[in-house]
Amino acid sequence: MAVDFDQLLVLQECDRRIRQIAKHQRDVPLRQASIRERLDSHEKALHDAQENHKKHMLKVKELEGEIEGQKQKIAKHRQQQMSVKSNDDYRALDREVATTQKAIRLLEDRELLVMEEMEQLGVLVQSRKVELGKEAEEVRLELARLDELLEEIGEQVEGLKEERKTLIEGIDPAVLSRYERIMNHLGSDAIVGVQGGACEGCNMRLPPQLVHDARKKDALTLCNYCGRILYSSG
Ligand SMILES: [Zn+2]
Repeated sequence: MAVDFDQLLVLQECDRRIRQIAKHQRDVPLRQASIRERLDSHEKALHDAQENHKKHMLKVKELEGEIEGQKQKIAKHRQQQMSVKSNDDYRALDREVATTQKAIRLLEDRELLVMEEMEQLGVLVQSRKVELGKEAEEVRLELARLDELLEEIGEQVEGLKEERKTLIEGIDPAVLSRYERIMNHLGSDAIVGVQGGACEGCNMRLPPQLVHDARKKDALTLCNYCGRILYSSG
């Protein structure tokens, strides 16, 4: 029985389009995932800045507590001074007060530094929020656009599958099954031409007998190197 290569080649063209479009179909979710990752990294940047800001706030509170403790210590020393009997004891307490005041100044210097950093972090948090807001909007639009694309692709695939059903009608089941096995195995065209005595699929030079068989088109002739179906237009 003669092999209808015209019909097979039309089918092959349809399968090629299905493969191309299926690749897009697989790519879209990957693109969406990488877009979501971009948003995640913005969210993380904001979260980090907020956490750092919070840490600074707690540090300020902690320093204020320490300063308050030191001030109470001074008040206690002053109180003690009212009841001491000797000048030496009085002066000893004065020295204690002076040391505590020095400690307070150091704590206040540190507090000021932490507050300055906190202020800068506050500005950073605000700008990160603005960035995230912009990014989130862009991401939302991009994801929606890709969802639409995915839907379109799905429709195209369905259309091509319907078209394929019509195209395989009347093809010898044995020929069709051989064709599909080769195509699925290689993930590419199953039918290739013979050009200058060589297989166009793998570019290997074919034995003259195979070239001759391929020309007859009365049965499937397979390349003995890559296993593809050989087609000779001559
Ligand atoms: Zn070959």
